[in-house]
Amino acid sequence: MITKKSILEAIEIVKKRNPAQPEFLQAVTEVFESVEPAIARRPDYIKNKILQRIAEPERIIIFRVPWMDDRGEIQINRGFRIEMSSAIGPYKGGLRFHPSVYIGILKFLAFEQVFKNALTTCPIGGGKGGSDFDPKGKSDNEVMRFCQSFMTELCRHIGPNTDVPAGDIGVGAREIGYLFGQYKRIRNEFTGVLTGKALAWGGSLIRPEATGYGSVYFSDEMLKTRNDGLKGKVCTVSGSGNVAQYTVEKLNQLGAKVVTLSDSEGMIYDPSGIDEEKLTFVFELKNVRRGRISEYAEKYNNVEYYQGKRPWGIKCDCAFPSATQNEITADDAKTLVKNGCILVSEGANMPTEPDGVRVFIENKILYGPGKAANAGGVATSALEMSQNAMHLSWTRDEVDRRLREIMTEIHRNAYETAKEYDYPNNLVVGANIAGFTKIADAMIEQGLV
Ligand code: NDP
Repeated sequence: MITKKSILEAIEIVKKRNPAQPEFLQAVTEVFESVEPAIARRPDYIKNKILQRIAEPERIIIFRVPWMDDRGEIQINRGFRIEMSSAIGPYKGGLRFHPSVYIGILKFLAFEQVFKNALTTCPIGGGKGGSDFDPKGKSDNEVMRFCQSFMTELCRHIGPNTDVPAGDIGVGAREIGYLFGQYKRIRNEFTGVLTGKALAWGGSLIRPEATGYGSVYFSDEMLKTRNDGLKGKVCTVSGSGNVAQYTVEKLNQLGAKVVTLSDSEGMIYDPSGIDEEKLTFVFELKNVRRGRISEYAEKYNNVEYYQGKRPWGIKCDCAFPSATQNEITADDAKTLVKNGCILVSEGANMPTEPDGVRVFIENKILYGPGKAANAGGVATSALEMSQNAMHLSWTRDEVDRRLREIMTEIHRNAYETAKEYDYPNNLVVGANIAGFTKIADAMIEQGLV
């Protein structure tokens, strides 16, 4: 009773203090409500005001990003870095460049990142950053000038032992290159200050693949609990960016068939499956030509393109949301369940609305929440940091083996924790409690900072 009251009070405080930030409130409410069984066992979490402290970023940096476009016109964007928690390591989390970016989106992502990073078994705190800059439709030179201006300010706040950003939506290999180049120029040091770097200058093999591969490894672990596997499963994937592409690649390798991809304008349905050759086309389309997924339907026969639609109406065994937040509504979740979907593994962050999550849990489908299922990306970033610190490079097999082990361990930890707290098979409760208790204990041990 006292526990519930304390949690509701903490949520109220967060609500009052962060008006007009619905995504942040959504993420906080989900975590706070699901860690109730842990708080009930540990009254010292209440006494130490862990909930209030954990939802308040340690530091927020907001800055002006002026740059000049190709026509010689001055453009102004806003840059952010949310340094959420350094309880168990330097701040770590991606940068997102997308017009929808504002402080509430980045706070939700930074908050999720804290628990996700705690689950990885690696010593990394949580952060997130980005800008309302839209790389779509910009020339390479414009993207470079923007990245240089962004890093000119950000470089004074980050460092290999302080805060190590990476990519996210709109920030891929090209952007990381420009950001790294500017950091190196201003600070006159070649260090592992960003992850997702190219292989020749400090990157790690498997980092580009890691989030997608990890989400598939996680789904395999979930299926194993029911003596099942991915072979022969029909899968829907949303998005067509980094996470979606490597999700498809790994699903193909493990004998599944992927029938959808999407972008912000629509989706394609290819009943015969997106095989290796078609995926090579997608890599070139999205990463080199930066085109639209509709072109896939123009190139291949018997493929439908649905303008403005997401893939959740297509019948599938397993779904891999890999585009963005809140892309599965409660109705979408009901449709998935009705059509026989038995598994959802979230490559994206918070892609399912809270009512949709309830539908999955009530129907006992295998549901891997993003902070567990997509943690392979940041875990491999931590492996990149380790390699940078040791000035060496592991082989592809070595990194992939470690990634696989980490995903297995994240699943085991979430699964066992859920069981320990009497929520068997509920990986939302399991992942949240496992991440939360690790952070909370570190905060108490380090005193009131
Ligand atoms: P990319 O920018 O490479 O790709 C994003 C994809 O999602 C694109 O196909 C994009 O379409 C689509 N998309 C973006 N916004 C929307 C929207 N509002 N509605 C519909 N579709 C949209 O990003 P990533 O693949 O890196 O990231 C995808 C998700 O995975 C995000 O939630 C991210 O936070 C999460 N994630 C990423 C990690 C990583 O390592 N990259 C790690 C962990 C999580 P379009 O091209 O039209 O914009």
